[in-house]
Amino acid sequence: MPFHLDSFHHLSQAELVAPSPVSDPYWVGFSDKVAALLNIDTNGSLPIDPQYLQLLAGNQLHIGQQTFQPYATAYSGHQFGQWAGQLGDGRAIYLGDINGYEVQLKGAGPTAYSRRGDGRAVLRSSIREFLCSEAMHALGIPTSRALAVVGSDLPVFRETRETAAICTRVAPSFLRIGHIEHYGHQDMQSELEATLEFLIQHHYPECQNSPTPFLSLLEKICIRVANTTAQWQSVGFCHGVLNTDNTSLLGLTLDYGPFGFLDGFDINHICNHSDHAGRYAYHRQGEILHWNLYCLASAMLSPLQNELAKTQQLNESEAIERIKTALASYNRQYTQQWQSIFRKKLGLRKELPEDIELLEKLMQTMHEHRIDFTQFFRGLSEGQSAPIEMAEWLKLYQDRLSVEDFCKDERLQNMQSVNPKYILRNHLAQHAIEMAQKKDFSEVAKLLKILENPIETQNVSDEYALPPSPDMEHIAFSCSS
Ligand code: AMP
Ligand code: MG
Repeated sequence: MPFHLDSFHHLSQAELVAPSPVSDPYWVGFSDKVAALLNIDTNGSLPIDPQYLQLLAGNQLHIGQQTFQPYATAYSGHQFGQWAGQLGDGRAIYLGDINGYEVQLKGAGPTAYSRRGDGRAVLRSSIREFLCSEAMHALGIPTSRALAVVGSDLPVFRETRETAAICTRVAPSFLRIGHIEHYGHQDMQSELEATLEFLIQHHYPECQNSPTPFLSLLEKICIRVANTTAQWQSVGFCHGVLNTDNTSLLGLTLDYGPFGFLDGFDINHICNHSDHAGRYAYHRQGEILHWNLYCLASAMLSPLQNELAKTQQLNESEAIERIKTALASYNRQYTQQWQSIFRKKLGLRKELPEDIELLEKLMQTMHEHRIDFTQFFRGLSEGQSAPIEMAEWLKLYQDRLSVEDFCKDERLQNMQSVNPKYILRNHLAQHAIEMAQKKDFSEVAKLLKILENPIETQNVSDEYALPPSPDMEHIAFSCSS
């Protein structure tokens, strides 16, 4: 029987479920930074209490004085533009709250929402989620975090036989647009309103004083999502599966699957090989999130209309106009944020209308010549000479710079802070994965350390900052994970 999670600090339809144990678990990766968030004592690399390995493997449900009552929540959603009905946590099990954060074991076995899935995750995808969560955080991009990956020799069958791993992920809340859609589509109004009120109380307290708190909530979610999406574009991050069930209500980057960072710039880049139509291509992410927010607004239509009728005496069509205005704040914020970050990446302080053309020309030229996205911006901010193909654009850029009145050193320094040197390129992740599959986890730890500090030049081989060699360029990622 589904129950309501008042006792777990939020109201979701959910089922209690125990993680399925795995035999002989071992550490694959561990983040002492996330451990610090959770107040877990470490010796600098692993928890001091050895029982954490069993806890995070799903083999025991207590640690110290704390006993957990794990559960999985129901949500629904639109997948690839189609209503998919009920989905839910099919393999992520909430352990519970630690130090104010929700902690989930992803890949800890089947739940009531697993449908035909095995509830497991493979080592490869768990390492990718672990490293990318921490890399994104270090880039200043809102994201769920990852505490650890625990491996086991339990076989898991995807295209081939692989082994299971469990990624412990951590967030202030894992609520998604899909949670709201779940109640909206079933016309469960009291659950819907309770979830919206929960969100306001715990994550958007600034809406409490608004005369229309639900409308204000919608608008604030739009703003957060717009900021995060613009930040993705600014580091060449492509999520790959931007379904509404993978869209956080807190504007976090969530559910890392076949994601990828652009190497050579291709505006149409599709990182998910199952996305034949390119719905989630790099250049479409901005508009897709707007579409997802439209789904959110539709799901919360009734509470919004009631609120606007009661407090503003608006009729149905007047209310719809107000909701559309709230949704439009997404577009405004996304455009503003996108332009602001890219101006910073180029070291432009003044806001001139002609900058837009300069940025468009930049994208166009980089696309035509498949210029490496990260290396180009970083090179520019280190005062290096740009690739010859960029010469024409560079002339326009130099002219534009002459209008600025701050010195070159200061400009370059500012630029470096928004033009990372190290990102989680697919071939780097792949190398760490292949070593981990042979039980050597040193490269996972090394990559984590590098990605935790993406801006400053580190004492590691230059290869960590370089694009892949041609033979490593086209690593294929399926949706299977
Ligand atoms: P995703 O697109 O990877 O976020 O997953 C979409 C839905 O499928 C979610 O409801 C997941 O919980 C579920 N799912 C994905 N993989 C599995 C699996 N191996 N076992 C059970 N459920 C899964
Ligand atoms: Mg998902």
